Amino acid sequence: TGGRARLPGEAWAAHPQVYTLRHWQDAQRLKGRLAQSKTLAIVGGGWIGLEIAASARKNGVAVTLFEQQPALCMRSVSGEVSQRLAAIHREQGVDIRTGCGALELEDDNGLPVIHCDGQRETFDAVVVGIGVDLNLELARDAGLAVERGIVVNALGQTSDSAIFAIGDVAQHHQYGLCIQSWAFAQNQAVATAKAMLNPDAPGYDDAPWLWSDQYQHNIQILGIPQPGSNTIAREDSLFFSLDENGRLTQLVAFNDARTVKLAKRWMAAGRDLSDVPLADPTFSLMSLR
Ligand code: NAP
Repeated sequence: TGGRARLPGEAWAAHPQVYTLRHWQDAQRLKGRLAQSKTLAIVGGGWIGLEIAASARKNGVAVTLFEQQPALCMRSVSGEVSQRLAAIHREQGVDIRTGCGALELEDDNGLPVIHCDGQRETFDAVVVGIGVDLNLELARDAGLAVERGIVVNALGQTSDSAIFAIGDVAQHHQYGLCIQSWAFAQNQAVATAKAMLNPDAPGYDDAPWLWSDQYQHNIQILGIPQPGSNTIAREDSLFFSLDENGRLTQLVAFNDARTVKLAKRWMAAGRDLSDVPLADPTFSLMSLR
């Protein structure tokens, strides 16, 4: 049943130059508008916000990004990675306003005006990427256990063993949150379909993984940040977060798919990396294969 894009309020939903991204048609509409725009406001410094910022800058559109948290993508990556993302976008000329107060929308002859911290600014278009509300009504009406999403086990089975859930609405059986990425939607669905056909199937066991293409960077995120993890940076391209036992909880890699592949194995094996000189750029990570 998927989800629907959140908006800060009714005025935003009604304004023709406020865009959200959920469907192919949304992307087509936004692409058409960006081609005629000089200025774009983005509300939300998450994955939609950053991917749109990169596309708009590549097309020469001036971008102002409003994020209410003190850092970008704060829920999904460590502070070190947030800073790296902000540096990449600032280098490309994005005006990033983290820690912004509540935003209000007004209209000026068909153009959206954002009112924030006492300032009023007019833009050609506004993109809102502040997360999604999941479509959980059907599951609730059916009496299924629902927390952040529909509670499922590794087989995709809900609290009613004859009902299965897949994709954005299915809450990850280990992490207790909904992982809204392409890889999860595909692979958890495949594992669930196999389990429906064969109760002895192994179920879903992949480490959370997503990627995002921004400017010339392919950014890959493996794992979920855990409170208390310590992040070790290797130059500007690899960020390893380890728990107190030296186990990798998250790797964020900029343009380095090979290390992500290796790290998937470290995660699956629960390898202790505390004695590995991860920060040393002269140390060959491939020697640990
Ligand atoms: P998102 O990644 O959750 O980011 C939304 C950001 O907007 C958060 O930092 C949020 O802060 C902030 N925010 C919330 N309300 C705000 C407000 N009123 N004013 C300013 N900032 C506000 O969500 P998204 O970018 O909308 O993307 C939707 C879903 O699609 C997410 O689950 C995302 O991971 C997924 N996605 C994945 C990819 C990919 O796999 N490459 C690409 C695009 C989207 P709080 O944390 O305080 O809410």
